Parts: sequence; C-alpha cells; structure tokens
Amino acid sequence: MSLKLAERVARLKPSASIAAKKKVTELLASGRSVVDFTIGEPDLDTPPHIIDAAIAAMRKGDTHYTATAGTPELREAICAKLERENGVRYRPDDIVVGCGAKQLIFEAFAATLSQGDEVIVPAPHWVSYPDIVGVNEGVPIVVACGENVGFKLTPAALEKAITPKTRWLILNSPNNPSGAVYSREEMRDLTDVLKRHPNVWLMTDEIYEHLVYGGRASASPVQIAPELAARTMIVNGVSKAYAMTGWRVGYAAGPKDLVDAVTKLLGQSTTCASSVSQAAALAALTGDQSHIEQTRRLYATRRVRMIELLEGTPGLRLSKPDGAFYLYPSVAGLIGRKTTSGYVLKDDLDVALYLLDVANVAVMDGTSYGLSPYLRLSFATSMSAIELGCANIRKACEALFDDRTR
Ligand code: PMP
Repeated sequence: MSLKLAERVARLKPSASIAAKKKVTELLASGRSVVDFTIGEPDLDTPPHIIDAAIAAMRKGDTHYTATAGTPELREAICAKLERENGVRYRPDDIVVGCGAKQLIFEAFAATLSQGDEVIVPAPHWVSYPDIVGVNEGVPIVVACGENVGFKLTPAALEKAITPKTRWLILNSPNNPSGAVYSREEMRDLTDVLKRHPNVWLMTDEIYEHLVYGGRASASPVQIAPELAARTMIVNGVSKAYAMTGWRVGYAAGPKDLVDAVTKLLGQSTTCASSVSQAAALAALTGDQSHIEQTRRLYATRRVRMIELLEGTPGLRLSKPDGAFYLYPSVAGLIGRKTTSGYVLKDDLDVALYLLDVANVAVMDGTSYGLSPYLRLSFATSMSAIELGCANIRKACEALFDDRTR
C-alpha cells in the first residue's frame, strides 16, 4: 500500500539550500571538481574554547534532559547578550532555546497560525519562511522588494500588504540572500506602520546581526520601538555568529504567553535542545567575543574580492551587500542568451544550471528566494575558491556573448 502523506507535508517543498548541498556533495563524491558558492553557513570551525566547554560539560555529567525552554544559565546569558548587544531587556522567562533559530520560527508559527492567516514575507527572503508558514496552515504573502529599494520593504509596501488576516511580518536584517541591512531610520519607518496595526505581530530574524560591512550596524526593531515588544519575537542563535550551525542552538525572546506556547510545543516534540550544545552556547555567549570581529573582517575581505572579480562580467548586475555573506547579482542580462549547445536561458534556474555545467560553479537560483532573476553567491568559502569560481563564472558569461563560440 502506498504511503498517504498528510496534506501539510504533501504541499511542503524540500529546502532548496539543503537540496543544493546534497547535490554538490554528490558531484564532489563522483569526482567532479565543483566550486561551491551555495554554502549557507560559516566555513570556519567552532572556536576551541566553545568545544572545550562542551567536552567539560559532558565530563561533568551535563548529559541529561534540560528544562524545555533551555538551561537557566543559558537563558540568563541570552538576556545579558540581548541587553549588551541589542539594548533590549528580557527576563529568562521570556526566552526559549530551541534546536536552531529555524525550529523556533517553525514553532512560533505552529503556535499562532490558523488556517488562512497571512504572514508578510518581504522578498528576497530566506528559502524556508514561506514553507514554514504554509506547513502551519498560514498563507505567505510574499512582497517583492527590488533592487530599486535596496531589496528592502518600504513602509508603503508594508501598509499595502496588511489585511485583516495579517498575523505576522517577518523581517530579516541583515538579509539572506540579498545582504540588505535596514538602517535605524528605515526600521523606525516600518515600526511606525506596525504601531498603527495592533493585530500584526513582528518576527525579527537577527541571525546575521554581526556580519555587517562598511560601517553599517544592524538595528533591532524592539530597541527602536519598545512599545512593539509585547508583540514581537526576536529570533537569533549561535549558528552564524560562532560558527556553530551543527550544534543546533537558537533562541527566541518575546512576550511570555508566546514563549510559553512555543515551549509547550517543544515539550511535545524535541523535549529540549541538546544539553551539550547548550553548554557550548553558554560558553559562546559568555566567553571571549573577539572571534566575532575576526570573522567579520575575514568576510569583509572576501566580499570586496568577490565584487572586484565579478565586476564587469557581461550579463551580471551587482549590488553591494551591506551584511551577511552573500552577493545577489541580477542575471536579467543573461536571460534569452543562447548557450553553445543552442539552449536559450529562460530564467535564473537555467543560469544556475548553466554555471554548474559550464563553469563548474554551484550557485543558488533567485527563484528559491522569491525574487528573480537573480543568483545567490556565497562568500563563506576560501579565497582560492572565490578566485577560481569567479574567474570561471566570468568566462562562462562571456561565452554567452561571444558569437564565435555559437
Ligand atoms: N534565518 C536565516 C535568515 C538563516 O539564513 C538561517 C540559516 N541558514 C536560519 C534562520 C536558521 O539558523 P539556525 O541554524 O539557527 O537554525
């Protein structure tokens, strides 16, 4: 008898970034030499003092279930971090720790959405938001935010997207995939709109907060508009800041009733995040923070180099990201071009496949992020990979404009 899937799973798309990672791994295993620009995580190792703390925790017997919302020590440390770095005050009871920021976003929607409730998702957006909304019976309202507005949601676009069914707005600054960072003023303009709509809640995904360039700073909307704290969930985690993606620790701060509802769901699903990972996250948040600035500088150098190498590539239009570790160039200039085999590139998915075939470079297509035609190129990889990958992309793009090769 064939398996009958639940409607909610049947409509769920697999994560495009996880699928890309799988594909690149398979290609590499088959002996193909591929430069991987699909990477959505720091390419660095977790700092040694964090690993030592995890080992020490295991040795001293921190190997049991913890409180579902996270250990008291970790929740205290998260409150201290939020006050120190974001200028916002929360009590440990307003914090819930989960298996990554992703799980907390998922459970917050599971806890609050009923069928047909709308969630405003500015695009380009992190691949998972619309699917997480959809699997939890909600309707993602994807609002295109083009290059002309710096890939950012404008107050007018927000106002227009709000309906009586709107339950949440998700803001992600610095943004994956565009690298856009909202300034304080831009954030204030958006929070001003939200103040006029008391039924709309705000989810602010601040996971890339430390990765900002060119003197930019990322601003938390709760700091700017404290009156919104009663209907805002801050989502963050240790994955990107401390190169700890595999440890699976994220956290959320928000009003106690929301945090309690999320905790209740965790209590019936994962019980708690790994005790060892929580001990590691505690060491990350309370230990030496110099690694964060070192990492930021490393990515800043790679960002500059990747832009330099790709500038002037025919068919690509670059915009400089203010944050995160991605470039999101437009490939509008490549659509309609013919490959040497006579195939006409019709969208960014075709361009991504073309680059994989011809340049041996794996990139993400903009379609997965809700704004086309673009590509997402990650610079969370070595400088040598950046040099080689960009040179190969340039050659492959040039070939599309060279009549002699066709
Ligand atoms: N939000 C954004 C914007 C992300 O890019 C990611 C990771 N790719 C996450 C959340 C999830 O992070 P975590 O590892 O904490 O689940």
